Amino acid sequence: MHIEVVTIGDELLLGFTIDTNGAHLARELAQVGVMVARRTSVGDGAEEIASAVGDALDRTGAVITTGGLGPTSDDLTKPAIAALFGRALHEDASVVEALRRRWKERGWAGELPVSNLQQAQVPDGAVVLANGHGSAPGIWLEDARGRWVAMLPGVPREMRGMCADQLLPRIRARLAGTPTVVRSLTVRTTGISESALSDRIRALAGLDVEGLTLAYLPGWEGVDLRLTARGLAPDDADARLAHAAGPLRGAAGDHVYGAGNDDLAAIVLAGLRTAGLHIAVAESCTGGMLGARLTAIPGSSNAVLGGIIAYHDDVKVTQLGVRVATLEAHGAVSEETAREMATGVRVRLGASVGVAITGVAGPDGGTPDKPVGTVCFAADVDGTVRSVRASLVGDRHEVRQRSAQAALNLVRRMLAALS
Ligand code: AMP
Ligand code: MG
Repeated sequence: MHIEVVTIGDELLLGFTIDTNGAHLARELAQVGVMVARRTSVGDGAEEIASAVGDALDRTGAVITTGGLGPTSDDLTKPAIAALFGRALHEDASVVEALRRRWKERGWAGELPVSNLQQAQVPDGAVVLANGHGSAPGIWLEDARGRWVAMLPGVPREMRGMCADQLLPRIRARLAGTPTVVRSLTVRTTGISESALSDRIRALAGLDVEGLTLAYLPGWEGVDLRLTARGLAPDDADARLAHAAGPLRGAAGDHVYGAGNDDLAAIVLAGLRTAGLHIAVAESCTGGMLGARLTAIPGSSNAVLGGIIAYHDDVKVTQLGVRVATLEAHGAVSEETAREMATGVRVRLGASVGVAITGVAGPDGGTPDKPVGTVCFAADVDGTVRSVRASLVGDRHEVRQRSAQAALNLVRRMLAALS
């Protein structure tokens, strides 16, 4: 079964709201083996809505819309689609009753506003999809040929609830024959470029990705390799994914840090716990982002001691014990300084692992030999110190995000070498 999704709202076209509804629906439908063939966003105009939904129906005969079911003048989804199906609207007494009850239960003053009655307008012959998460009910409208449109509210929390309670059960019931799934498996890598990864993977003899697609998804965390199986029985999909993932992991080698949604900070914390080690951080250009990454993980207190934001050189000297001579000879952004920061924070905080970041996040402050994006990292694990210098891309925010990730990766690799 192929479905199209039409998300409705001027705010989507203006870019004020990101279409998270479309993304959520695509992920949920994949779980039950349904492909979203196309996603369209349109503004709050009756003609736009009717034409987008009409085109989508012509292609797939199955359309989900979100938005435009509210009680205000910009909510035109129902009349537009009812007209497309040649149906009139009537007031549904049970919806009016539910709206009145909800108004009372909330303890809101006065009577149900007349505007809300618009939400009780239902196309003739439609099925009302109860909304247990808000006021606007959804609508399921189907024609004599079995072509259907499911209309869900735009508010993401309500939309997600109704997708689970009302939509997915109906779609599952329509899926005939062997249930198939759309399933993905993600291998997370970092510290290697997309192109270098691609070369390694192309060199793999006998990588069997038959029936699967492989996507390279680069971002500040690294490059995710996502294998996707579509239209296969669940066991077959899982077996093919597992079969192809092994060689992919092998090709990416020790750049692989996890799978699925794994967070590198959580992986590092787990590694520290396994080794019985405690970590302290010394941060210059990231100003605490590394500490934030680590402490964002619940339970981090059993492996994280604390940190020092040593932004100014004086703080590097007085709080971390970086030698003035080192700063003068090599500069604040140098592997030498990073090493002394890492050891300094480890010793002063009584940790077993110290990790340090010092770099030029930009947009100013770059020099010919240390351009913006030059960042030095060091980690001291029980007296063994390693350092790296990297050239990171992106704006200030991205350089800082990439820096925290690279520092975590250095620790991960040193921990791996211990075991
Ligand atoms: P509506 O049901 O059209 O009144 O939408 C109510 C609110 O839901 C809007 O103000 C948006 O903030 C949000 N919203 C609508 N459509 C989407 C969407 N596709 N993705 C995420 N949020 C949305
Ligand atoms: Mg709207």
